[in-house]
Amino acid sequence: MKEYKLFINGEWQESADGIIADDVNPATGETFATVHQATEKNIEAALTAATEAGKDWRNTGPTTRERLLLKAAEIMDERRDEIISLLIEESGCVFGTGWYQVEYSIDSLRSAAGECRRINGDTIPSDVPGLLSITTRQPIGLIVGIAPFNVPFVLASNKIDKAIAAGNTFILKPSNETPISGLLLAEIYQQAGLPAGVLNVLPGSGSTIGSRLIQDPRTRMIMFTGSTSTGKKIAVEAAKGLKKIHLEMGGKSPLLILRDADLEYAVNTASFGIFNHQGQVCMASSRVIVETPIYEEFCTKLADKAASLKVGNPKDPDTIIGPLIRSQQCEFINQQIQQATDKGARVLTGGSHEGPFYQPTVIVDVTPDMQIYDEESFGPVVCVIRAKDSDQAMQLANNSSFGLSAGVITNDLNKAMKLANGLESGMVHINATTVQCETNAPFGGIKDSGVGREGGRYSIDEMTELKWITIQQGQRQYPF
Ligand code: NAD
Repeated sequence: MKEYKLFINGEWQESADGIIADDVNPATGETFATVHQATEKNIEAALTAATEAGKDWRNTGPTTRERLLLKAAEIMDERRDEIISLLIEESGCVFGTGWYQVEYSIDSLRSAAGECRRINGDTIPSDVPGLLSITTRQPIGLIVGIAPFNVPFVLASNKIDKAIAAGNTFILKPSNETPISGLLLAEIYQQAGLPAGVLNVLPGSGSTIGSRLIQDPRTRMIMFTGSTSTGKKIAVEAAKGLKKIHLEMGGKSPLLILRDADLEYAVNTASFGIFNHQGQVCMASSRVIVETPIYEEFCTKLADKAASLKVGNPKDPDTIIGPLIRSQQCEFINQQIQQATDKGARVLTGGSHEGPFYQPTVIVDVTPDMQIYDEESFGPVVCVIRAKDSDQAMQLANNSSFGLSAGVITNDLNKAMKLANGLESGMVHINATTVQCETNAPFGGIKDSGVGREGGRYSIDEMTELKWITIQQGQRQYPF
């Protein structure tokens, strides 16, 4: 069985206190690897290495960083099959989700490489005679990245590549449930020739390692993706040291289906939006709001589609729905569904599980007084909600603590634009699923879904400090 070590200062190091955890395959419940856990001495070593490495790294030219990122993209491409099979083993994702994660991460590396040459400043018109007024963007310094379990490769990779592109150093704390995804990235960057200390990866407990890294004065920024409850704790910790934060958190993203929609397309869009990666997606279309004239027919067709999806071993190429990351999540979902049905909701299909495999579930007649209406299930469960018209659909969509992504299915462009402007979310997709991500687009949410935007130049803006510099040509006349 393979044993994975910590990546600190360009070396593979053991847990300073000899703590080694099992990495468990969620589909089988079997341990397939072991992973060293970072403790205080390791954390201190990583903080020191990243700080020291930053002194030179921040001064490297754009082509050095660009070449390195392109090399990492090449290596990732060559190691594609191996990475996909480890992602399936570690996170229980199906082949398509593993493939997507590698493909996206390669694209993200290339996009980050392109950004290296575009970290520009401005020239600002000044009223002061002879004053040249400019801005520059400088690396922010040491960034701590904290990643979740669900799309672990992408959500670590897309933070590291932009941080490196902008001249920062990075310490990654991967999820305890998917640490190998982060360690694989360290292997790739090491192979690509990244100088020691620029990237460090520390698997271990979120509450201990995470807090220690956030509190340390050498850390200048925290980039977090995970649940809203953890993100809020991190925001409080970070505020004590006035650290910059970037938070990508939970969602209960609405997909609005208006009465003129092509029903088959609407069903397929909703089905992909919720059942992709067994619903363990922050921007999953977990609330589908449908106008009354097509409501019943839509519900029946969506239930038929859900019932047809194959559940089981994620290694089987026909499987659509693999296991949830842990069996306890199934009990949590059962309890949400029970509470909703007690209040009048109907389960049209699904609603049960075998071990960690939850059946694709369609629950209809969901109303705002039910817990499931505004609480993540993080499983293959879609709530269908009835709206009498598009105005009520928007009001129902906005009746949520979250604001990540939204979708609208209609051919009525005027209504679509009115909804796109009025929906309280960071992203709105017309005639498509809520599940969309592109390496150059600004990904992120509002309300309890997040702070900041991730992707391409938007990440670079977040991970750099804007500095104003002036040069006075000739002498200025002061009043005294
Ligand atoms: P989680 O909040 O349980 O854990 C996320 C990370 O935070 C893990 O690495 C964990 O070890 C660490 N952590 C836990 N407690 C911590 C603490 N006190 N201090 C510092 N770090 C701590 O989330 P999860 O279960 O791994 O992921 C699922 C959640 O992530 C869902 O809510 C989902 O919506 C969200 N998510 C959001 C996005 C997005 O882009 N908005 C993307 C993917 C997942």
